[in-house]
Amino acid sequence: MEKSLEQIASLCKRRGFIFPSSEIYGGLNGFWDYGPMGSELKRNIRDAWWHFMVQWRDDVVGLDATIIMNPRIWEASGHVGGFADPMVDCKDCKKRHRADQLCEEQGLKLVQDGKGWKLPEGCKCTACGSKNLTEPRSFNLMFKTYVGPVEDDSSVAYLRPETAQAIFAQFLNIVPTSRKAVPFGVAQSGKSFRNEINPRNYTFRSREFEQMELEFFIRPDEAVELLCGHVATLADGPDLSGEPQDDWGWEVWHKYWVEQRLKWYRLAGLPQEDLHLYWQTKEELAHYARACVDIEYAFPFGVQELEGIAARSDFDLTQHQKHSGKSMEVMDDRLRLACATKSPEEKDAFRAKVVADWTARGKDPAAANAFVDGLFAGRYVPHVIEPSAGTDRLALALLCNAYDEEKLVDSKGKEDIRYVLRFSPALAPVKVAVLPLVKNKPELREKARDLYKKLQRKWKCAWDETGAIGRRYRRQDEIGTPFCVTVDFDTMGEGDDPALKDTVTLRFRDSMEQVRIPISELVAKIDAAIEL
Ligand code: ATP
Repeated sequence: MEKSLEQIASLCKRRGFIFPSSEIYGGLNGFWDYGPMGSELKRNIRDAWWHFMVQWRDDVVGLDATIIMNPRIWEASGHVGGFADPMVDCKDCKKRHRADQLCEEQGLKLVQDGKGWKLPEGCKCTACGSKNLTEPRSFNLMFKTYVGPVEDDSSVAYLRPETAQAIFAQFLNIVPTSRKAVPFGVAQSGKSFRNEINPRNYTFRSREFEQMELEFFIRPDEAVELLCGHVATLADGPDLSGEPQDDWGWEVWHKYWVEQRLKWYRLAGLPQEDLHLYWQTKEELAHYARACVDIEYAFPFGVQELEGIAARSDFDLTQHQKHSGKSMEVMDDRLRLACATKSPEEKDAFRAKVVADWTARGKDPAAANAFVDGLFAGRYVPHVIEPSAGTDRLALALLCNAYDEEKLVDSKGKEDIRYVLRFSPALAPVKVAVLPLVKNKPELREKARDLYKKLQRKWKCAWDETGAIGRRYRRQDEIGTPFCVTVDFDTMGEGDDPALKDTVTLRFRDSMEQVRIPISELVAKIDAAIEL
């Protein structure tokens, strides 16, 4: 079925998933609110991510840092100097564009040379067709604010444009308190802010959004070599589905996280065929990055990024080491002990190899020697793999994937459209709806109400006693509730078959199949279906 963003946005508004922010005042471009259903969906996404990335693992811990931090963090990270997009204005219709996107829409490529950005020949305004465009200007995406009562340069602070930097900034507190040794990771989810030039595609590019990020710290390859005698690369065909291994180099760790993340998206319900990997080319990579893969999803408006997974070397911790003056090195006892057993000849040969390698890459031999001295003592600045996902983008992808219109024909030949959100049960905003068949029968209603109260302690449930039962099922289909439980006269032992006492009808959203099941088996049955 062809799906349009308009259809999906319309259902989201109608059913309480997503509203324009501050709508009664005309909204605010690039800001969105999540309504009763949307807030449940987002919470489920966050929880599912946390379970998979933190709770089910031994080697990842969490962090919940502030949105406003010391602005020196953003100097060290490079955001103050370089977190900018190129902006152009149409001099005729006054429409403002992000220059790289404007070019991309016309199959062109924005030119970047030593002096900055330049529009390629033939680029025009996509709103009015005019070629009368300004030169691209750099626009920093960070929202600025002031901390305290005085608004001057010394009180400037920024709303974080990503959650990740706090992890680096708190690294020295996390290492001793978590009692984790490299390789280990720190995960954080929360709000980020970017003053996007051109928010668009509904919530896809917003100015306030949520991220779910992991910084997974690994040994530098040289440390792996000292510890294991070799460094496993992808060419060795490592088994990425099992437990991580000591001899994995950065390349294997990076691929491991790509696989983990793909597995999670599939668990979340996105079909394999709609997920794509885009490996950034050498020219596209940031200077410090060794590899970066975007996990993309086939949205109705095109294949677009859900998550970026970057191998960022030791760039971030080294930057914070430089700017804060605090050593970001860890003590790796296993490495130290392994080095203590090496002969002087082995150490000399290793040192010569590292110095030659670093020199060949244009690095300072003195720095290489200091690095090797550190390794022999068990010390180094960890490298990092960063899987960085957008909560709102995933919510949108799940809504797009779940949206379905089904043509039904009833027994009298009448056609009807069933709107249904086919969420995976684990992420559906409401798991179970409890429906008393009639509302004017106090004992029946009470029985249903008791069951509802019991299920509610386990899952987000809905209670609906108004309208015909078929209509009530449809309402639940539209918000994606996977299970409906109907309490009827049989449940009360008042139907034709007394054996049906204390059984209910369980109705499945996708197949619309209905089965009769004892109340005592309900929780186990639903639990099994909801598990991620
Ligand atoms: P883009 O190229 O789309 O601007 P990016 O590559 O700058 O994104 P990252 O800095 O890698 O994005 O951020 C990591 C993730 O955060 C993205 O994959 C996306 O899911 C999410 N994200 C980034 N910017 C936005 C935004 N403006 N609105 C919603 N989500 C965003």
